[in-house]
Amino acid sequence: MPSYDVKCTACGRTWERWSPIADRYAACDFCSGPVVQEFKHSVQGTPFIPYFDIGLGQQIDSLPERKKAMRNAHMDYRDHPSAGELSARRDRAHEARREQAKS
Ligand SMILES: [Zn+2]
Repeated sequence: MPSYDVKCTACGRTWERWSPIADRYAACDFCSGPVVQEFKHSVQGTPFIPYFDIGLGQQIDSLPERKKAMRNAHMDYRDHPSAGELSARRDRAHEARREQAKS
């Protein structure tokens, strides 16, 4: 499980938090002020839970294996198209369908 360094922007306290996703944006434990978190490290010894990835169509037994599988499948969370680009694509597709319907 990842651990985070948490800094309260109101009272300036810092502490460490084990962070289930839902807790990530929780308020300061002391003054309820807004906090910022920095990912620190993954705790050593936390086992990777193997699973069958339906999207990739294969069994994933470790993090490096998942990275490799995603690379092979040309999937990368960083190259999702922007909202504007998606909407432009939709417009082009819509236009193409209208042209087709005309002829
Ligand atoms: Zn605080």
